[in-house]
Amino acid sequence: MKCRVCRGSAVIDVPRHNANFCAEHFLRLCRDQTRKAIEAFDMIAPGDRVLVAVSGGKDSLALWQLLHELGHTADGLYIGLGIGAGPKGRPNDEVGYSDVSGEHVRRFAASKGFRLLEIDVREEHGFDIPTAAATTRRVPCSSCGLTKRHLFDRAAIDGGYDVVATGHNLDDEAAVLFGNALQWNTDYLARQAPVLPAGNGFPRKVKPLVRLTERETAAYCVLSGIDYQIEECPLAAGNRHLGYKDLLDQAERRSPGTKHTFYFGFLDRAAERFQSGGEGPGVELGRCGGCGAPTSEETCAFCRLQARVTGVGDVPVRITSTPGVGR
Ligand code: SF4
Ligand code: ZN
Repeated sequence: MKCRVCRGSAVIDVPRHNANFCAEHFLRLCRDQTRKAIEAFDMIAPGDRVLVAVSGGKDSLALWQLLHELGHTADGLYIGLGIGAGPKGRPNDEVGYSDVSGEHVRRFAASKGFRLLEIDVREEHGFDIPTAAATTRRVPCSSCGLTKRHLFDRAAIDGGYDVVATGHNLDDEAAVLFGNALQWNTDYLARQAPVLPAGNGFPRKVKPLVRLTERETAAYCVLSGIDYQIEECPLAAGNRHLGYKDLLDQAERRSPGTKHTFYFGFLDRAAERFQSGGEGPGVELGRCGGCGAPTSEETCAFCRLQARVTGVGDVPVRITSTPGVGR
């Protein structure tokens, strides 16, 4: 197996590019694909301050390093979600999933000299994700996604960042698109883009890894010596997107390039047909009475969730977004 670029010994095959690569040229491919996504979708302008959502997993740590390699100013934000090691992810006295994830992020940031911000949801907001899930009786990813989006937005606005970058890769985006298309969730299809522009008090959101697959970000980490959290979140079992990923993996094995064609074909030829309003930057929003975040209601969804879970206040919870697609 020879590298397509230098004919040296290859360490990885990339069937969708019908090519093999040595370590050096695979790492260059990852940088090139990330730069291409950033440029094609105007994700980051020169001089922009980027806040990277880091979880300790392969995608977010790869993204953080790639942004630095491409010359961007990128700080990381880690949110401690309080996801534990016990049955069903309940917090207990052992070292839990969130503790281990946080350690990976801190070690990585220290070894690179990158600036890391941290928020601990238990300490600062009085609840954790397992408790929120139990209280709302919804799949944990609903409360978790809502909490992360809210806290990343707020930290970016408060810290004067121009853009929030997340590590969603091609597998993630294709799976979310597949799920939304199966159910014809037209509101979500309208907002499924690698860039959501700033507006209405929200920062710009970008997904620079949309041209890389999960396998490729994992290989990037291994070949770069990035030590990431390998365990899956213990609360992920209820996440429908895992099933959609399996289906798309089967299609990809039979026909390499299927995920790329599906996702980028949607962006090129179908996405604009769904864009007809919603809570985009064109719609005027008010401000949450609790925290000041932009919202179409008196109190934002995060403050309603916090009130419900901590028992402070009596506000009904309505979670309307799913991970990866909402604001
Ligand atoms: Fe949160 Fe779900 Fe991701 Fe676990 S899998 S970290 S609960 S969004
Ligand atoms: Zn609020």
